[in-house]
Amino acid sequence: MSSCAIVSLMTPLSETPNRPLTPADGVDRLPRAIRLRLEVAGETAQRQVEAFNATLGKALLARIDTTVRRILAGRMKRRAGLLALWAIADDVGARAARFAACRRGCAHCCHTPVAIGPAEARLIAERSGRPMASPPLSDRWVSAEYGYHRPCVFLRNGECSIHAHRPLACRTLFNLDVDALLCELIPGVTVPVPYLNLQALHLAYAALNLEGAADIRSFFPGDGEDVETVAPGSTLDDASA
Ligand code: SF4
Repeated sequence: MSSCAIVSLMTPLSETPNRPLTPADGVDRLPRAIRLRLEVAGETAQRQVEAFNATLGKALLARIDTTVRRILAGRMKRRAGLLALWAIADDVGARAARFAACRRGCAHCCHTPVAIGPAEARLIAERSGRPMASPPLSDRWVSAEYGYHRPCVFLRNGECSIHAHRPLACRTLFNLDVDALLCELIPGVTVPVPYLNLQALHLAYAALNLEGAADIRSFFPGDGEDVETVAPGSTLDDASA
């Protein structure tokens, strides 16, 4: 079986621990603990993704392959396609969880941009009962303000209040490092977190849902209630330098 899904899942990293950060990236502003971690994060993630890949059975890989191909060929309606991607992401996530640093109550990623499309926003609104807005054109492809002061509106007491209905972007984000150190938001620097690469799912998502994408905060305006839940530096304090 040749499959874009398999190839993607076998590709270990979507981002750049292999590329050394330079002063132009703001590396000089990073705490020493993070700079040291970046030196080994790529190797750690490579080991983790190999172990993860070994847990993917043929049935799940075939399901991913079939679903992605059907979506890319235009043979699935948006809603059915999104629900199928959510279900696959949850099955993949159940396997990825033991190799990832992500833990219940860790919410760094809920303070970062979360891009969703209008079809998924409608699905979330319908299932969560929360009214959605139609972001103005100026918000499309532009991240809303985000950071520890501006969490996702659905974050409550450090946990996702729409966990069963959260977007694909949230279901597919797994940091393959040993802990959440690299997830700390550092102003002005994009730290290359070694996320699991699930680009086949994202490609299918884009085919269903790309037009009109915007940040989740633009579709669901308002403030998150717990801006103090994840304090900047909370992980750094625990890290060995
Ligand atoms: S939808 Fe839930 S998991 Fe996703 S960013 Fe918002 S609070 Fe976090």
